[in-house]
Amino acid sequence: NIQKQSQLIRKDFPLLNLYSGDNQLHYLDNAATSQKPQQVIDAISDCYQRVNAPVHRGLYALADESTTTYEKSRKKVAQFIGAPQSEQLIFTLSATESINMVAQGWLKHHLNAGDKVWVTGMEHHANLVPWQRVCKETGAELCFIELTEDGSLDLDNATELYSEKTRFIAMSHVSNVLGVINPVKEVTQRAAQAGIPVLIDATQSVGHIPVDVVELDCDFLAFSAHKMYGPTGIGALYGKADKLATMEPMLLGGGMVDEVGDYESSWASLPSKLEAGSPNLAGAIGFASAVDYIESIGLQTIESIVSELTEKALFALSNINGIKIYGPLDSERREGIISFNLDGIHPHDIAQIAGESNVAIRSGHHCCQPLMRRLGEVATVRASFAPYNIEEEINALLEVIETAQSIFMPR
Ligand code: PMP
Repeated sequence: NIQKQSQLIRKDFPLLNLYSGDNQLHYLDNAATSQKPQQVIDAISDCYQRVNAPVHRGLYALADESTTTYEKSRKKVAQFIGAPQSEQLIFTLSATESINMVAQGWLKHHLNAGDKVWVTGMEHHANLVPWQRVCKETGAELCFIELTEDGSLDLDNATELYSEKTRFIAMSHVSNVLGVINPVKEVTQRAAQAGIPVLIDATQSVGHIPVDVVELDCDFLAFSAHKMYGPTGIGALYGKADKLATMEPMLLGGGMVDEVGDYESSWASLPSKLEAGSPNLAGAIGFASAVDYIESIGLQTIESIVSELTEKALFALSNINGIKIYGPLDSERREGIISFNLDGIHPHDIAQIAGESNVAIRSGHHCCQPLMRRLGEVATVRASFAPYNIEEEINALLEVIETAQSIFMPR
């Protein structure tokens, strides 16, 4: 039944249907970016064919419509993550930009020398490098929640995490390498008691597993449309009202100002204050349409398809001689992301052989060099699933591994 559902979902994705027969594309690089359904492509095309006009700037009917559609899109995405007010959802370029905005626009103004900022040992560079810089600039100390043997967060040994010196915690909801779902709620609850703001990098979780900002009680949440069947070039930042109110805009210019004098300017109210320049109307429409698409399938269906694929893949992979799989093996605690290595074979060689059979997987450090160091590797192979993947694509991956082993490790 689940197989049937994913076959049906697959029909919605024109790029996947470009390939057929022996030439079939096995797209298992969904953690990097997802494919787009026809519904999202149509919504973006419809924007340019029917709605396109400047947002928040014109007085004619079409400009009114573009503004209303843009704000409706904001509401849709905001509601999807349970934001109490639409104004708490800022459209950005990407999750990367969202995180940088918090680092430079908010945290920088709340840090002093000797303060501590905590991250984890599994962060994507996007949720690490911005904190490195802000710590360097202010003299604060960057601290790491380390990992246990199986790639879970070792919260028990992060003894100073909620100490008086801690001013901020930034952590991923789901690791883009290990696939592990982190206990973010546990951290936000303890942090709230200690008055410490928490940012969650939800780039790999929104659209994949339920994310509700009120339930999570996080202060900031960052994510990207392109990892959830939406367009590239647009992301989002959610923030608690008091945090966004005290956030300094990083980008200055049109649309984000109230009064502009020759030498001084004042800022517009939220969300405009944090969205300088002409808004990405088609991006916002595509983003909202991706949310519609996810809702039409149902997050639960998406989750169950991906989790069944993951379980099957984990089982099959763990029976291979000389394989090392990273992250916890129980599929309850992970999303559809599996990183592994094979004894004696470089991950790039595996990805290359995979590429020759049209199996799209990733090899490399996945923008997680500090995690690679902790794993004692320079790179891993990564396969990641979406609800349009089918079981035979796991078999295609297994065949790639067999071929690689027969070339590099002949018996
Ligand atoms: N965080 C995580 C966990 C990610 O997987 C990614 C994308 N690989 C990012 C942040 C950055 O997202 P973007 O490139 O869309 O800004």
